Amino acid sequence: MVIKMEVLYKSTRNDEKKVLASQAILKGLSEDGGLFVPEHIPALDKPFKEMADMSYQEIAYEVMKLFLTDFTEEELKSCINKAYDSKFDTEEIAPLAEADNAYYLELFHGATIAFKDMALSILPHLMITAAKKNHVKEEIVILTATSGDTGKAALAGFADVEGTKIIVFYPKNGVSPIQEKQMVTQKGNNTFVIGIHGNFDDAQTGVKNIFSDKELEQTMLQKGYRFSSANSINIGRLVPQIVYYVYAYAKLQQNGKIADGEEMNVVVPTGNFGNILAAFYAKNMGVPIAKLICASNENKVLYDFFRTGSYDRNREFMLTSSPSMDILISSNLERLIYRIAGNDAEKNAEFMTALSQTGQYRITKEMSGQLADFYGNYASEQETAARIKELYEKTGYVIDTHTAVASAVCQKYREETGDTRKTVIASTASPFKFTRSVMNAIDSKYDSMTDFELVDELSRLANVKVPNAIEEIRTAPVVHDTVCEKEEMKQTVEKILGVL
Ligand SMILES: *Cc1c(COP(=O)(O)O)cnc(C)c1O
Repeated sequence: MVIKMEVLYKSTRNDEKKVLASQAILKGLSEDGGLFVPEHIPALDKPFKEMADMSYQEIAYEVMKLFLTDFTEEELKSCINKAYDSKFDTEEIAPLAEADNAYYLELFHGATIAFKDMALSILPHLMITAAKKNHVKEEIVILTATSGDTGKAALAGFADVEGTKIIVFYPKNGVSPIQEKQMVTQKGNNTFVIGIHGNFDDAQTGVKNIFSDKELEQTMLQKGYRFSSANSINIGRLVPQIVYYVYAYAKLQQNGKIADGEEMNVVVPTGNFGNILAAFYAKNMGVPIAKLICASNENKVLYDFFRTGSYDRNREFMLTSSPSMDILISSNLERLIYRIAGNDAEKNAEFMTALSQTGQYRITKEMSGQLADFYGNYASEQETAARIKELYEKTGYVIDTHTAVASAVCQKYREETGDTRKTVIASTASPFKFTRSVMNAIDSKYDSMTDFELVDELSRLANVKVPNAIEEIRTAPVVHDTVCEKEEMKQTVEKILGVL
């Protein structure tokens, strides 16, 4: 009998309370406004030689069992098998495509063709299991702010899941036409989609305020509801995202692309800092990752942070062709700040208070010294478009705008440093999700075509079948048309739940 070491979770803003993984998943955000972090990051307990031949689902189990220690083997495997099934259009789940001296880790083969599916296809199952384990009787209401991709992926994950409702807020004029169509055509009696007059940060702030509204929480409990979050701050999203970095390394090894123990770099197109944080956790678990390359678009708050040690959100918010990265407050960065502050909740809380009061904070020299494995850079709109065109013309491979930001930053990094390590680029969306920007980058002559004409043209050009997720919305009727002011988000939620 092996005695299992329980991994406990604590808040980045409070050292005292510790909770089990299932409780952290149910809560989403800690009551003090902090994010849950594991007390320590567990090490992989199987060698890559052994994992090289494993399936995605098997590797998922190897990684997740180490973090979600209060789930039984049966519970975890059941969640994994329900999540990573035929909703994905390839058995590989996250295939690697080699193009122009890099490996594109395609994280967009799930139901909504963006990388959010990697975590959001499993989160509902983890949450329902967690609710059962903790004898939760209330209905779970998922509240989510989205910059476009999370919303649809969460809707798809939670639609018609018994014991749950899901309410999604998105910036009315801040998502792509296909992203919007995907959301407003969402089926399921428990799904609610609301556009707000404001940007993503407004939506995220509104949701955070609702979460921390104690009075509302009490009213909700009386009515039999309990809020939870599907945003990337939930460790139930973070942990499944670690899996594909382990998987990528195992597959590179299986295919003879990388030697055992040889280091690779990863490049991640970054918004809320969830995906790259997962790569950082993977590195800490023992995946041989040298550099974590953080790629931003023109909202380059993270680039400035890595360069200067100063995080400053006081700047103009840009709408770019990579809307899922149009973010000025990268929530998950808090987990890294907490860590480089020496896991000091009090110190971290000071930085976060400064951020909410003045919009900025500056880390110490000592803290900056711990960021040597990170490299930050950004790509302008023009550089992003040029990279899509260049890669297509050179190799025939078509990438989306977010992935192109990463690919352009990868080039900058290599030019700057001469680093020739093997590189995995997180490919976070299918080009079919951002068809207009992608096609315009390739040739301005496409400008006059309709969205769906462009879809067919892209399919011809890239020699890739139109994904189901796109076929479905060609003719689907709009079923959600609510729009509200950013100040009305709370009332809108109360109205939906009938608690006014
Ligand atoms: C969400 C998203 C990102 C940003 O990921 P974070 O984890 O928020 O940094 C990048 N690209 C796409 C396509 C996304 O949907």
